[in-house]
Amino acid sequence: MGAQLIDGKVVAKNVRQRLVPRIEALKARGVTPGLAAVLVGGDPASETYVRSKARACDKLGLYSEVIRKSADLAQQQLLDIVRELNDDDRIHGILVQSPLPSQIDEPTVTLAIRPEKDVDGFHPHNVGMLLIGRPQLIPCTPHGIIRLLEYYEIDPSGREVVVVGRSNIVGKPVAALLMQKTHMANATVTVVHSRSRDLPQIVRRAEIVIAAIGRPRTITSDMIREGAVIIDVGVNRVEDPSAEKGYRLVGDVDFEACREKASFISPVPGGVGPMTIAMLMENTVTAAESITAMPK
Ligand code: NDP
Repeated sequence: MGAQLIDGKVVAKNVRQRLVPRIEALKARGVTPGLAAVLVGGDPASETYVRSKARACDKLGLYSEVIRKSADLAQQQLLDIVRELNDDDRIHGILVQSPLPSQIDEPTVTLAIRPEKDVDGFHPHNVGMLLIGRPQLIPCTPHGIIRLLEYYEIDPSGREVVVVGRSNIVGKPVAALLMQKTHMANATVTVVHSRSRDLPQIVRRAEIVIAAIGRPRTITSDMIREGAVIIDVGVNRVEDPSAEKGYRLVGDVDFEACREKASFISPVPGGVGPMTIAMLMENTVTAAESITAMPK
């Protein structure tokens, strides 16, 4: 039989469509939501991500700006750019694309972003608000995962969820979202990582598995309980001489084998990836709404 595919492109389109009336309402008030992305150095993957974020803005009629700087940019110069964007009325969302060169301390840069414009949701203010159950700007990939589950009517309430990975951008925030006492949450969450003992046994308990590891085929079919829901966040390049670019993208899950046991599975590409950008658009619109509603 095989699992039903979780189609991130369809759900991302749905998210974008629901943004249209909100954007129109903002424009009727003279506000065009604006996103600024700062790219330091010429990392090709980062360049691709930033370009697709700018393209997504264009499609929705949002204003966007990409600020490109060379890899030798001093930390203070980057902080100055962030401060200017904090004060720029055309900009409602600021993102500083990672990875950053080694002379720049990423948390210091994150702290410099005005929390209301922190559309990545990484500022400690937004992280804290999420943890106490008062989310404002929620990290895009974790929020996108919740939306995927919601679209396919997979309610995590009361279910055993195993999150593999504990990064600040995926593992920790998705676990925090799922354990909240709210709609599309109330799950029993276990977080595992590279130091966890007996990963297969823990993953086998899961009714929902969220894999955010960054290693191909870490989750194999023997770890999957019959009927489990699998969300594969990983994006890994593996060599493939038959592919035009010489490589192809795969997730963290052994897709073909696991789909035989799962009830739902998200593919890579085309699963979580499109959701991340859609949720960035949503955060930019949310930021524009709340910033322009604030008294000056
Ligand atoms: P990190 O490298 O920051 O975190 C990876 C996590 O996986 C760590 O917590 C690590 O444990 C854990 N881990 C590594 N190896 C194992 C193992 N063998 N068993 C169990 N746990 C393990 O990665 P990110 O969270 O940033 O990203 C994860 C993946 O998701 C990457 O492939 C990334 O490209 C992708 N990604 C995709 C996005 C999208 O939009 N589709 C967005 C963001 C990320 P420890 O903490 O102990 O080191």
